[in-house]
Amino acid sequence: AAAGLSLTDDAAVAERAGLAVTIIAGSQDNVKITTAEDLARARRSIESQSGTIRVGSGFDAHRFGPGDHVVLCGISIPHSHGLAGHSDADPALHALTDAVLSTLSEGDIGVHFPSTDARWKDSDSSKFLEFATRRVKERNGKIIHLTITIICETPKIGSHRHAMRSHIAKLAGITLDQISVQATTTDGLGFTGR
Ligand code: MG
Repeated sequence: AAAGLSLTDDAAVAERAGLAVTIIAGSQDNVKITTAEDLARARRSIESQSGTIRVGSGFDAHRFGPGDHVVLCGISIPHSHGLAGHSDADPALHALTDAVLSTLSEGDIGVHFPSTDARWKDSDSSKFLEFATRRVKERNGKIIHLTITIICETPKIGSHRHAMRSHIAKLAGITLDQISVQATTTDGLGFTGR
């Protein structure tokens, strides 16, 4: 019946027909999704707005002691010495755990796993990283990338890199391409050099 009348939209048509029209406040973000393209656009928009990106950092060092292997990133590597520590003394996983915890502002590894607690004596440090990455998920976070730099003269890291990345991937529930393990020496300088 409204054909030919100069009415601007469906609300105007309703008003003309004697229906009560109510105006409510809306939001530009509440977009109408009709086509697949609309859906893709809405998804991009939500992803770009969903929270902040946090970047964490961690550091650790352990002294050499008696032993025949060291554990780095959960991988046991035969060596002329061991690393001293309360747990399995894996400084790589300790630093990585601290890096993840730092993104949550929930204290460091010593707060959650104190070395005064007998429970963590000789503990597999994998548990610590598992805990930290689980906390991220519990807080609706998502780990995009993990990277670690191992600084040591010995042992050589290169041939163990793949095993280390695979181990971290399993613990953190992410894929290999989201994990980087770097290694360097300090050219004999400093305490790592000695
Ligand atoms: Mg440590």
